[in-house]
Amino acid sequence: MGRVLVVGAGLTGGACAALLRGAARARLAVWDKARGAGGRMSTSRRAASAADLGAQFVTIEALRAGPRSSFYEELLSHGILKPLTAPVEGMIMKEGSCNYVAPQGISSIVKYYLNQSGADVFYEHHVTHISLKDGKWEVSRETGPPEVFDIVILTIPVPQILQLQGDIVNIINESQRQQLESASYSSRYALGLFYEAGTRIDVPWAAQYITDNPCIRFISIDNKKRNIESPEIGPSVVVHTTVTFGSENLNSDPAEVQQLILSHLEKIVPSLPKPASIKFQKWRYSQVTKAVPNCLGQMILHTQPLLICGGDGFTHSNFDGCIDSALSLAEAVKCHL
Ligand code: FAD
Repeated sequence: MGRVLVVGAGLTGGACAALLRGAARARLAVWDKARGAGGRMSTSRRAASAADLGAQFVTIEALRAGPRSSFYEELLSHGILKPLTAPVEGMIMKEGSCNYVAPQGISSIVKYYLNQSGADVFYEHHVTHISLKDGKWEVSRETGPPEVFDIVILTIPVPQILQLQGDIVNIINESQRQQLESASYSSRYALGLFYEAGTRIDVPWAAQYITDNPCIRFISIDNKKRNIESPEIGPSVVVHTTVTFGSENLNSDPAEVQQLILSHLEKIVPSLPKPASIKFQKWRYSQVTKAVPNCLGQMILHTQPLLICGGDGFTHSNFDGCIDSALSLAEAVKCHL
């Protein structure tokens, strides 16, 4: 019985682990450096309030769904996805596509797959080194002893793959390194504003895309967007900055950046009440602007033992991109089990 490690509890890692469930009786583990599941599909929670700080919607193009149809159907049948019914201003829709939201928060999608996988999931496991040891992979993390695995699957953003130390540095050959280094991501900031239960936010929309502000690109009344409105629920507001603001302020002082975003927000929505708490999020690797070229959703870095990487950096930054990568990873891994 082989030990398989998936690094990254985001959508790609979660879906890949679910696809590998029971494969050749492999024992699956998922490690993530964060304190919870979701990656860029994260939902932040405070008391009676929740906010999707990264991905907002799952867009389904029924005619181009292909092998992803079963993923959509499963999430819809379990109520994890529901059609977006709340008013969103300025949203550009492709013909034939529909938007869905996750009422329990976007991270519930990833949690669903992690549950399905039956894997042992460990948080606060920050992988730092990957090296060969007696024909297996020895994986080290920031704290705690290293562990040995037969197969390692990396589903972390590409620049973070290139930061890993150990034998992996020399295992990645020159042409693969060039391919990996050519991938690029946008950066942006997000704020989550959390309110006490019963607070009223009087705006006619659930979300809006802003085109005339240098700082803010998107605002949502997150609970309203997810169709969750009740007196027991504290409302939440999510703000995403523009990519230009994100890259211009990438290394600025977080407190100053937060203040700048809040001052722009006040001009756009002057009626917003003062929140009970605020979550500040920097998405250094937000969305893929150029994917790793010439690979179909994954790249094999070493064959025996298998070391393979995938994620939206190998496809594109949305639900479909992650599922395509997860399918491609699982197919390649199954051949080695
Ligand atoms: P990630 O979600 O990044 O998961 C990788 C995981 O690896 C993370 O949990 C991270 O903590 C972990 N990790 C990294 N390094 C290490 C390490 N060394 N050791 C251990 N763990 C590590 N998509 C949509 O479909 N619809 C949207 O509306 C949408 N909007 C977006 C808005 C924003 C602001 C952002 C940031 C993204 C948005 N996306 C959207 C894109 C979508 O969120 C991503 O494509 C998707 O979440 C990527 O999933 P992933 O599993 O490939 O990577």
